[in-house]
Amino acid sequence: MSPFQAATYFFNRSAGRLGLHEEMRQVLASSYRELAVQVPVRMDDGRMVVYRGYRIQHNGARGPYKGGIRFHESADLDEVRALAALMTWKNALIDVPFGGAKGGVQCEPGLLSRTELERLTRRFTAMIGYIIGVNRDIPAPDMGTNAQTMAWMMDAYGQKYGYTPGIVTGKPVELGGSPGREEATGRGVIISTREAVKRSGIVWRDARIAIQGYGNVGFWAAAIATETGAKVVAVSDVGGGTHNPEGLDLELLAKHRIDSVSVVDFEGGASVTNEELLELDCDLVIPAAVHGVIHSGNARDIKAKMVVEAANGPTTPVADDILKERSITVLPDILVNSGGVTVSYFEWVQNIQQFSWELDQVNFELKKRMTKATDQVFTRAERDGTTLRDAAFDIAVERVAHAAEIRGYV
Ligand code: NAD
Repeated sequence: MSPFQAATYFFNRSAGRLGLHEEMRQVLASSYRELAVQVPVRMDDGRMVVYRGYRIQHNGARGPYKGGIRFHESADLDEVRALAALMTWKNALIDVPFGGAKGGVQCEPGLLSRTELERLTRRFTAMIGYIIGVNRDIPAPDMGTNAQTMAWMMDAYGQKYGYTPGIVTGKPVELGGSPGREEATGRGVIISTREAVKRSGIVWRDARIAIQGYGNVGFWAAAIATETGAKVVAVSDVGGGTHNPEGLDLELLAKHRIDSVSVVDFEGGASVTNEELLELDCDLVIPAAVHGVIHSGNARDIKAKMVVEAANGPTTPVADDILKERSITVLPDILVNSGGVTVSYFEWVQNIQQFSWELDQVNFELKKRMTKATDQVFTRAERDGTTLRDAAFDIAVERVAHAAEIRGYV
């Protein structure tokens, strides 16, 4: 099943439970607008390479389109389409006034120099500039992009349309970014997970956590989990991972990464592959990298009691059923990783009002929203006897369908 088929599968199940009529299903199952562009980039050695880029707006019933930009070799039309749809449901579930969108350039950012990345970002921004806007569609960082990427996007957009800080979120604080945005997704993951843990037999201070992916989300989730007393026993990046059943020393790991960039070969742990990490003996496993990593081939070997979907779409539908059968709780992506878009919403509000918030206020509001959404998902799942993912989709799809209906879309 492709990423979009998987996202549609979960939507269709929800539409069935909610009894959505056929016209509404058709509107919500497809994208509003899909833009595919060429992104020609002059490389440092003089060659020209033409990349493929996408911006897909899935549904705008609840507000301007909102979603990240991914630079990754897997970022093709199908993947970006799936991620755009997930953004619609995520934004509705966490109740920020946005529709859903996603963008991507199919490339390997790790192989590009800083100047090549800047040229790629500026060209891509120019190519999608017609369909984004502060009240239309607001990009943000995702895999392979960061605050620097957003600074270049804001600058490229501003050169054509004038100073517009609210055109992207996840910017550096010096350029109108919000305090707390960088760590917001990881912080939100841990807030929601701790709420879920309270309802399980796990004690947070005894929890052993394995995290796949040590980029923005994985890094901050690990840091905040450790800070709040849990034990991070394994982390990994694209090259592989490191495991220490007694808990990793993240400060030592930070020093190791200064020299080697990767977590691989860290002397404070034993090497594990990305596949082995998911099957480690631990309480919580947090996939925080790419989609489809928990599948029919390994779902029966997961030993954790809870799977926390910090990444988008890490569990395939078949694996989801296997985990349910095995009574392993899955905290769904559209709930648990929504902290990033929540603080992106705060950033957008601050940009529009030209008034900045203190970090305490950002974290307070983030916690309030993550806790409320988590509680709503658990309550709904209990009421309807569904999984947390089904409950999350039902709440989100219901909200979007209602907005579409009262706006007169359908
Ligand atoms: P990132 O680029 O900062 O980090 C990605 C990490 O995953 C890196 O450690 C990389 O080495 C690793 N990785 C890449 N390919 C891998 C593979 N095939 N196997 C194992 N590890 C691999 O990205 P990020 O922003 O941390 O995003 C991670 C995930 O979280 C993505 O699924 C993204 O869509 C999702 N997400 C991110 C945000 C955000 O605010 N950044 C918000 C919501 C969801």
